[in-house]
Amino acid sequence: MRSLKNIARTFLLLDIAAGLRVTLKYFFKAKATLNYPFEKGPLSPRFRGELALRRYPSGEERCIACKLCEAVCPAQAITIEAEEREDGSRRTTRFDIDMVKCIFCGFCQEACPVDAIVLGPNFEYSTETREELLYTKEKLLENGDRWETEIAANLEADAKYR
Ligand code: SF4
Ligand code: SF4
Repeated sequence: MRSLKNIARTFLLLDIAAGLRVTLKYFFKAKATLNYPFEKGPLSPRFRGELALRRYPSGEERCIACKLCEAVCPAQAITIEAEEREDGSRRTTRFDIDMVKCIFCGFCQEACPVDAIVLGPNFEYSTETREELLYTKEKLLENGDRWETEIAANLEADAKYR
């Protein structure tokens, strides 16, 4: 009886019909995939992407070289050297982050008293060499300048939950 059923299925192409039914059903539904990189999905304001250092609107660096981020980083990815300026303010002379070590925990951002170091929304920063992922202060400030609008909007959106 079972083999008769199987023969009927084979000759009537029932499996193909069932497959086509599934294809047709999903053909007219909204697509579950995105045509990346031309289309991108939404990101949470809390998304932890590429690290950046921010400036004030005046152009002055936010970082006051307190080194809290360096102390709290569980991966020891941050290296800071600092000195006093002529006006008495403290600023970093070296601010390196080894992005290969970073585990994107966000502790540095949490610890920073002036919202200087942030994990921005950029996730497209893959490189061909490890050396390119050793970020200098210039690179981090450049990231901050490039993403400041998005970073500021994300911080504002998340502020009421902090
Ligand atoms: S996100 Fe975490 S691991 Fe990465 S630099 Fe900040 S504190 Fe260190
Ligand atoms: S980035 Fe923030 S926590 Fe780190 S040294 Fe500068 S001011 Fe301090």
